[in-house]
Amino acid sequence: MVHVCEVTGTIDDRKGAKHLAKKTNLRAVFPPPNHDHGRCASDAIAHAEAICAKRAERLTPMRRRVLEALLASHAPLGAYELIDRLSVRGSRLAPITVYRALDFLREQGLVHRIESRNAFIACVHNHDSGDPVVFLICEKCGAVGEAASAAVADTIKSASRAAGFRPKTPVIEISGICAHCKAA
Ligand SMILES: [Zn+2]
Ligand SMILES: [Zn+2]
Ligand SMILES: [Zn+2]
Repeated sequence: MVHVCEVTGTIDDRKGAKHLAKKTNLRAVFPPPNHDHGRCASDAIAHAEAICAKRAERLTPMRRRVLEALLASHAPLGAYELIDRLSVRGSRLAPITVYRALDFLREQGLVHRIESRNAFIACVHNHDSGDPVVFLICEKCGAVGEAASAAVADTIKSASRAAGFRPKTPVIEISGICAHCKAA
């Protein structure tokens, strides 16, 4: 049984050796346009339920609605776009309600904030919330991919250490064109 890690694109083979899956790497970070996104969304919700149960946290209806709205696509949404989508028939949600839900989801590592876009994405990669991530932001389709960054994280750590600096929240966001838009 071969396991392909969605975050790193690495393969664990039967002997437990890890090596890069060059062919699957791009697909894992940026799902193709015709992928089964319903599956992404339902997997992410199931993961959120499991995480909350494990940590004795509550995935309240509001927290779930916010997560589901972000799971509409792999592109980030601003807080106000999110409020627009969640507000039904004239009853507009208070921003604080949505921000509180976002804070909770971010603490649990289920949602990431994309600083350069001032927007939020649902994480579909099921990594530990402490893992450093490189966000790859497609300028064409708006999708955000999460790439593995162990080497980048090590470089940042040693560069910071050399400057006598203790890094707390490294944010790495790279704009560009995703493999699917490049091919189109
Ligand atoms: Zn998807
Ligand atoms: Zn993530
Ligand atoms: Zn793209």
